[in-house]
Amino acid sequence: MTSAPPAFSVGVYCGSRSGVAESFEVAARAVGHWIGRHGGQLVYGGGQSGLMGVVADATLAAGGRVVGVIPHAMVEKEWAKRDCTELHIVDSMHERKAMMARRADAFLALPGGIGTFEELFEVWTWRQLGYHDKPLGLLDVEGYYQPLLQFLGGSVTHGFMSDWQMDLLKVERDVPRLLQTLVQAAGLPAPVDLSQI
Ligand code: AMP
Repeated sequence: MTSAPPAFSVGVYCGSRSGVAESFEVAARAVGHWIGRHGGQLVYGGGQSGLMGVVADATLAAGGRVVGVIPHAMVEKEWAKRDCTELHIVDSMHERKAMMARRADAFLALPGGIGTFEELFEVWTWRQLGYHDKPLGLLDVEGYYQPLLQFLGGSVTHGFMSDWQMDLLKVERDVPRLLQTLVQAAGLPAPVDLSQI
């Protein structure tokens, strides 16, 4: 028996740690829940720790598909989440990020550390260069990203960036609103917000 293809795929970048405040895990759970409940697919780094594990567990629990893409070296360290719907073991970080970018209709960054920053900046840069036209979102839980956004605003002031580049990144604190916006911007039918029924 073949099951219906997912309604959409969201590439999520987030911390391999959970952060100090409980609200980070709450937000990651809400993201996974929304994806699963709306028949979507999570595409992520395939890890089991921190917010990565939380978002994947919540997607699976809500009936969604989870595609994990993880380099060999991390599997050897036992970092992989083995119960992903699809777990792709690749040779390098480059392969991992390319596959994630290919499999996702839109990208969303949650709070995280340098790994998350690097992944977000890469797909943002690719978007500004026209390598893809997939929407990008930033979930600003607890105002975590405010200092970074302020810094980037300064980069516009100093003439190293333009407003249009900043506008490529949809910044939001509300999980359903941001995911709905991203799915719609990806040109896919906006899922009915089941939580409103
Ligand atoms: P960070 O935001 O620094 O926690 O980084 C998240 C990214 O770092 C992931 O996508 C991985 O590339 C990598 N990473 C670091 N630690 C782990 C871990 N324990 N499990 C899986 N991925 C990890």
